Amino acid sequence: MPLIEADDLFKFYHPGDAEVRALRGVSLTVERGEVVALIGPSGSGKSTLLACLAGLDEPDGGIVTIDGRRMTRRPEAERAALRANSIGFLAQSGNLFDHLSVAENIKLQMNLSGKFDSCRVIELLSLLGLADRGHAMPATLSGGELARAGLAVALASDPPLLLADEPTAEVDAETESRILELLEARRAKGGAALIATHSSALGLKASRVLEITDGRI
Ligand code: ADP
Ligand code: MG
Repeated sequence: MPLIEADDLFKFYHPGDAEVRALRGVSLTVERGEVVALIGPSGSGKSTLLACLAGLDEPDGGIVTIDGRRMTRRPEAERAALRANSIGFLAQSGNLFDHLSVAENIKLQMNLSGKFDSCRVIELLSLLGLADRGHAMPATLSGGELARAGLAVALASDPPLLLADEPTAEVDAETESRILELLEARRAKGGAALIATHSSALGLKASRVLEITDGRI
């Protein structure tokens, strides 16, 4: 059974009188141990697709199934529970609560998924090169640190599936290579990821590349 399956997803936006067809019949699966790169130009529907897969947004048509359980058209609380159990989500920005330190943000995410583990907080911080930044507030982090801290939060509960929206955009080379190492280590243990990216390094490391154009794969 695939870890995530999207069947014929459609999503429309209606700004004013216009209709933007952001997703037009997208189907895909991601299996355990796969790192899939989602590549497409700006405006092609990558962020919309990831939000629908994570259950943060509802598609207008089609079905998302997470590990055999339907995500689409479920009450918000059910979607949130499914997401907390199975998915680490890394948005393009705004992954941390500003009033909590980096470590507190990681702990909060662990608590939400019922997997609190103080050793893992320290392990994650050091894996991502943030060993001395646990007490730092988000506003004091550099761009690269902020991206790595966001990833630490997304991986806090060691989710089977990571959905990441351009995690290596605008980060330094060190951060990019740390992220790639982490994805590789996760994959070796059966972890899966679907990553929207412009990074050719990430495209090369991926087990598979999906190209999206005008809302179609
Ligand atoms: P990408 O992440 O590949 O840049 P998006 O999923 O953000 O693409 O956007 C796909 C299309 O949907 C674009 O044409 C974008 O302008 C449009 N779009 C995205 N979000 C909204 C929104 N909230 N309202 C109206 N149009 C939107
Ligand atoms: Mg986007």
